[in-house]
Amino acid sequence: MSAPKAFVVGWPIAHSRSPLIHGFWLKRHGIEGTYVAEAVPPDAIDAFLRCFGERGYVGGNVTLPHKEAAFRSAAESTEVARKLEAANTLWLEDGRLHADNTDVHGFAANLDERASKWRKGGSALVIGAGGASRAVLWALIDAGFGKIALLNRTPARAEELARHFGRSVEAGGFERLTEALGEADLVVNATSAGLLDEAGLVIPWNAAKTSAVATDLVYVPLVTPFLEGAREEGLTIVDGLGMLLHQAVPGFERWFGIRPIVDDELRALVVADLAR
Ligand code: NDP
Repeated sequence: MSAPKAFVVGWPIAHSRSPLIHGFWLKRHGIEGTYVAEAVPPDAIDAFLRCFGERGYVGGNVTLPHKEAAFRSAAESTEVARKLEAANTLWLEDGRLHADNTDVHGFAANLDERASKWRKGGSALVIGAGGASRAVLWALIDAGFGKIALLNRTPARAEELARHFGRSVEAGGFERLTEALGEADLVVNATSAGLLDEAGLVIPWNAAKTSAVATDLVYVPLVTPFLEGAREEGLTIVDGLGMLLHQAVPGFERWFGIRPIVDDELRALVVADLAR
């Protein structure tokens, strides 16, 4: 059998750390496989998804802006991919395209590793209502959070998601931040604000419970202004890098046959790369 070959497909793709992560695991486990980045524009993604098997790929990861197209192309999909209507992990089985979404696993596993008290559940505040927010909402519902405030700069987008996810999700705009922050046991920044040291969101952290956990999906910089503010008020903080590392685990296991672990050595490798 030839060495398994997997991809990450996106547009653009040069920034992706997935080849670094999977390359590290391939080397660690002495697997003669490869994992490469494929830059594919939106008008070519359907053809790529139809034909990647003919190019020797066993499967791969999908990133922006192709997660919805990947879900639509699959013949079979997991429950979580169907709930999110988006896929980030693909593989071929009996010649058919299968799809999963491992962002939910990545989000939950990161918190399990670094702030396991989040599992106590209670009330959550999710800021942002884009694609990544869907994975966060599903993880919180799955973990048993009974009340989730979903606040977005554009409230209509939050309302649409709240309809999709049901009664435990209450949508609103940023005018409700102070009130929702006061109730929250878990606070999640699922916006792209704060990326690359942008000024970020203005959060009235002094209204938050000091027992709460705050996490950001953005991981460049590792400690965003959002997390910095939470830390100053005494909250437990969890950066977004662990979500990226953990979401990679199920795909690697499927394509290469070994379930890898996320550890300090891998994290240090990616942190060093982000600093470049
Ligand atoms: P989308 O573009 O789908 O959504 C962006 C969200 O950010 C929207 O809610 C948008 O609000 C909000 N937003 C953007 N700029 C601002 C601002 N200046 N002030 C307030 N709100 C703002 O992005 P995604 O949901 O796909 O991704 C969100 C972030 O999560 C990205 O930075 C992404 O890199 C990161 N991410 C990290 C992952 C990880 O593994 N750690 C995994 C997936 C995503 P509005 O609707 O009003 O425009």
